[in-house]
Amino acid sequence: MDLQIGNKVALVTGGSKGIGLAVSQGLAAEGARVVVSARDEEVLESVIADIRSKGGEAFAIPADVSSPAGIEELFEKMASYTGLPDILVVNAGGPPPGTAAGMEDSAWEAGYDLTLMSAVRLTRLALPNMQEKQWGRIINITSVSVKQPVANLALSNAFRAGVTGFAKTLSTEVADQGITVNNVGPGYTDTQRLKALFADEEAKSDFASNTIPAKRLATPEEVAAPVIFLASEQAAYITGQTISVDGGFVKGLL
Ligand code: NAD
Repeated sequence: MDLQIGNKVALVTGGSKGIGLAVSQGLAAEGARVVVSARDEEVLESVIADIRSKGGEAFAIPADVSSPAGIEELFEKMASYTGLPDILVVNAGGPPPGTAAGMEDSAWEAGYDLTLMSAVRLTRLALPNMQEKQWGRIINITSVSVKQPVANLALSNAFRAGVTGFAKTLSTEVADQGITVNNVGPGYTDTQRLKALFADEEAKSDFASNTIPAKRLATPEEVAAPVIFLASEQAAYITGQTISVDGGFVKGLL
């Protein structure tokens, strides 16, 4: 299937590793011009060199999405290098673990900027160009925690629920402007992020066998696949949704 995004500019934040990297690579393979953003310039350069070596179009713009100034600078650079995004994939590292009762204000404030406000700020800057073109795709990488909160990930549980509410509200505001707004919620996915959550490989694989009906972790590419589809022309009528990619982990009906 031709996803018809060959003439589109995509921005993937947190695009240098894990799920964001797989999304960047996948969008580029579909012909989009992809701006890959994350904090480390050296890693970004090697990511875009790899994409280009496979025939894709990619550009590196470093930015820290937990900073309002960092996001503004990213958009200023995009405006002059590639044009503003038609496709926005909002992603970054997850906030640190911790209990609901056990964290200081400073941890809540950092989680708010990293996880909730990055989505709000990136989206606000991306929307005017999408509205002008009457075409846009906004996809937030959230988590299964929006459907089934995960113990000891209070910041993620709280702020990703916020992103979901923001995205649903926005989706109704822009649905008649050719712009869709959706979320993809990864389950346990084999990336660097999981290293912070499990003691070692054995603990990871025991967890998968005992907790995930598929009895294995997701690959980053499996999480990226629906993100890439949601960016397509064919996904024009899907909006306001959260699609879990979790091997059956969430026990609820939706
Ligand atoms: P990862 O740690 O492998 O990659 C995160 C990416 O974001 C990297 O490119 C990193 O450089 C970048 N990044 C981190 N902080 C940033 C910042 N402040 N500004 C810009 N870029 C930043 O993570 P992942 O496993 O690919 O997960 C991606 C998202 O999905 C995370 O928010 C994570 O919490 C969420 N998630 C992951 C899993 C999982 O099992 N891996 C499960 C549920 C949700």
